[in-house]
Amino acid sequence: MQLIFEKSVPGRHGVRVARSDVPTSINLDPALLRPTPPEVPELSELDVVRHFTGLSRLNYGVDTNLYPLGSCTMKYNPKVAERIAAYPGFAHLHPLLPQLRLGGSLTQGALQVLHDMDLMLREVTGMAGFTMQPMAGAHGELTGIMIMAAYHRDRGHRKTTILIPDSAHGTNPATAAIAGFQVRTVPSNDQGCIDLDKLRAMLDDDVAGLMMTCPNTLGLFERDVERICAEVHRVGGLVYYDGANLNAILGKARPGDMGFDIVHLNLHKSFATPHGGGGPGAGPVGVAERLLDFLPVSVVIKRDDGTYALEYDRPKSIGYVAPFYGNFGVVLRAYVYLLMLGREGLPRVAEHAVLSANYVMARLRDLYAPAVDRPCMHECVLTAETLLAEHGIRALDIAKGLIDRGFHPPTVYFPLTVHEAMMVEPTETESKETLDAFIAAMREIAAEAARAPESLHAAPVTTPVGRLDETRAARDLNIAAAPLCNCGD
Ligand SMILES: *Cc1c(COP(=O)(O)O)cnc(C)c1O
Repeated sequence: MQLIFEKSVPGRHGVRVARSDVPTSINLDPALLRPTPPEVPELSELDVVRHFTGLSRLNYGVDTNLYPLGSCTMKYNPKVAERIAAYPGFAHLHPLLPQLRLGGSLTQGALQVLHDMDLMLREVTGMAGFTMQPMAGAHGELTGIMIMAAYHRDRGHRKTTILIPDSAHGTNPATAAIAGFQVRTVPSNDQGCIDLDKLRAMLDDDVAGLMMTCPNTLGLFERDVERICAEVHRVGGLVYYDGANLNAILGKARPGDMGFDIVHLNLHKSFATPHGGGGPGAGPVGVAERLLDFLPVSVVIKRDDGTYALEYDRPKSIGYVAPFYGNFGVVLRAYVYLLMLGREGLPRVAEHAVLSANYVMARLRDLYAPAVDRPCMHECVLTAETLLAEHGIRALDIAKGLIDRGFHPPTVYFPLTVHEAMMVEPTETESKETLDAFIAAMREIAAEAARAPESLHAAPVTTPVGRLDETRAARDLNIAAAPLCNCGD
């Protein structure tokens, strides 16, 4: 694979413009003019098109094939939402339009989207109000925990600790620490859920709250969820719902009804907006009634005359967490997705997501044991322990073997509580045929592990970049353009 600079041929042009037949006059100070032309690749238009089309074909995305990355909900992103987000009336809006603050007509449509999205998310989650500003799940967490801190401060309580289960996503403890809290880890029981007795023993007046993902990162529903919320409330704490796994319960159950006080949603996961490659995302935060005053500014309100406006006068607000409204285009796509599904479609999301994950688990369990032997929700966690014991094949080798078979690997080595974990989230948008092809690839890899384990250690062999030395990559980091190997040229 050559860099575009290496393909350059001196004197080759893309577009030739006829020589100007009028005199040119440049009024720039000659000292500002460069003495030599810039060093850019010299190529024809076709060279450039082939170069970038070739690069794009090395990409893997949901539009290419199954992307079963557990916890990430890489489901299909309907194209109609892209089309609507590209409407000039939305796409060309500038956040500094002066009418915005005055609720002028240029921005009423956008404000209505934000306002109505708030109403729909309340309906979906059972919370009392939302902010759309946070730009990712982790940013939503930070916003939520800042709200939690502001609430306790407002009541004159000094609370120092946040409890987090050992199966939690790494962003949870990171968030609590950045917000200035001590983190204490709640152990799971052998069912993969929060150990209620151990949690009870940890609850005291210092506890500001508990952060919980439900279903948790093992893909399991926390059976004691209502009791857990009640116990945390008993010591004056709040319960935070990490909503990254909401697609498992969409239209079926609501965190607000279970007793949660603060919720963040990952629109880029559960609500089908594109993600990967670092964003953009959106992590709206919803709160219970008693926390509404602490939401970030601005808040979109609907006035008596039916127009929409931004309200900033909120003395108890935690303030700004993002410029303007966060990622409006992402909120808009998720809004379109919700309108497409409607009340009838929403529960189908959860049903199909859960059915797909259980189907994959059932068809693979003889070769890859489930981490916990009970029906899962929208994702299943399998282990490679048997293959490791019998043939020296690890979850990492299986992941690389899947790449050679045309699939994106599942999440591996997470959650941290499971050895040789492989976390498969097929999502509700995949057909049975696609799931069957994935299952066949996983079964073929198990057969190859027994027959020729060394070939799996060498995988992937079909990609421009082969197996990396992960230890060296971490210790001897080189982020300059690296020569690509394995591809012959
Ligand atoms: C993805 C995820 C997050 C973080 O969300 P980002 O948008 O990536 O910041 C938090 N918790 C869980 C359980 C997740 O899966």
